[in-house]
Amino acid sequence: MRLPEAYDYAARMHSGQTRKGAAQEPYVNHVIDVAARVARSPAADETLILGALLHDIVEDTAGTAAEIATRFGPDVAALVLEVTDDKSLPKAERKRRQEATAALKSDHARRIKLADKASNLTALADSPPVHWNAARRVEYVAWAERVIGGCRGIDPVLEAAFDAAALRAKRVVEGAA
Ligand code: ZN
Repeated sequence: MRLPEAYDYAARMHSGQTRKGAAQEPYVNHVIDVAARVARSPAADETLILGALLHDIVEDTAGTAAEIATRFGPDVAALVLEVTDDKSLPKAERKRRQEATAALKSDHARRIKLADKASNLTALADSPPVHWNAARRVEYVAWAERVIGGCRGIDPVLEAAFDAAALRAKRVVEGAA
């Protein structure tokens, strides 16, 4: 039974971290949200849910792919690595690479991206980061849509959910601009 282990591990590894939004939600709320979103896909399996729960561990905590492989298996570790940015690169380059590489990823990695960006756009609409001005919010929505351009055609359910989140975020950020 790997799922309860993964919830526990994610909660402990992300403890003390909060989302960027004004509501300052615990960060683990985001990874649970992404897991709940990917679970709506007819293609969801345990590896996908585990990958979603653990998708920010290597990028944002002291956890490593090796530790994930030991605890949850090499398939889950490989999936997490596919959706992990190289933090040694400058932020602009990381964002450019997300756009350039999304279409090259596995279907499960693209499902996590669809749900991750939908989660982020929903948070942007509901609780935007206070230090982001209107232009930055508009640019984030446009960038997320470009990344997701490489994730289309594999999962109609998650794609429709992303589109709904993007449309709503666009209305909110452009209305505020
Ligand atoms: Zn995320």
